[in-house]
Amino acid sequence: MEINKTVLCLLAHPDDAEFQCAGTLALLAEKGWEIVIATMTPGQAGSTELGPKEISVIRRAEAASSVALLDGKYHCLECEDVFVMYDQPTLLKAIELIRNIKPTIVFTASPSDYMIDHEVASKIAMTACLAAGIPNIKISHTTPYNTIPYLYYCDAMEGKDILGQEIKSDIYVDISSTIDIKEKMLCCHKSQRDWLLKISRVDEYVFMMKNFSRKKGGEINFEYAEGFRQHRGFSYPSKNILKSELDRLVATHHFE
Ligand SMILES: [Zn+2]
Repeated sequence: MEINKTVLCLLAHPDDAEFQCAGTLALLAEKGWEIVIATMTPGQAGSTELGPKEISVIRRAEAASSVALLDGKYHCLECEDVFVMYDQPTLLKAIELIRNIKPTIVFTASPSDYMIDHEVASKIAMTACLAAGIPNIKISHTTPYNTIPYLYYCDAMEGKDILGQEIKSDIYVDISSTIDIKEKMLCCHKSQRDWLLKISRVDEYVFMMKNFSRKKGGEINFEYAEGFRQHRGFSYPSKNILKSELDRLVATHHFE
């Protein structure tokens, strides 16, 4: 059966994808996949100088210009930083998004991460993948999406849980050939980069991303890597589709 070569990345904030999975998205784009990055919020908390509305306008545009480098699209579910809720209105927005996008692969945040927004985004994505196919969940102008996507959890920020314990990745993607585009995408988030530059006087933003990608690569003998864990619970597809799509660029620790 022909699969719909669309990948949806559903994370909490603008720039999360550029830290955690943009290298892999770029590899999939090279393979002809359509890339959609969606964030739960427009990042209204991400400024000390601009108000929430003004910075949100800037950050939506930054996120859109980043994914445009992969000829992809950006969506915002218009929740607010710090207040991403696991509630019915938010779930309905995520379910509607999945019904409209019809992704075969979904990337989301780690179920355990440094910030609750990330953990809630992760749970919302998990439920929405399943619920999008339930006919009795009625959302106007949508029809049930009968395919449960392959669901992958990105690494947590710094690869650690709230107790500082390392969360091991199961799947590593070699992003050495796409680290430059990943950096370009990250640098589209100029407002955040400048903010950190001002605070730390070094280009902490790019440094953090590259450092972590290099660390992940070092765990598996790639120069740069991104780590993932796949949702393998009941009813979700458990084949590692990343391995079949990206072949030798994918290494696994615990499975296969
Ligand atoms: Zn975030």
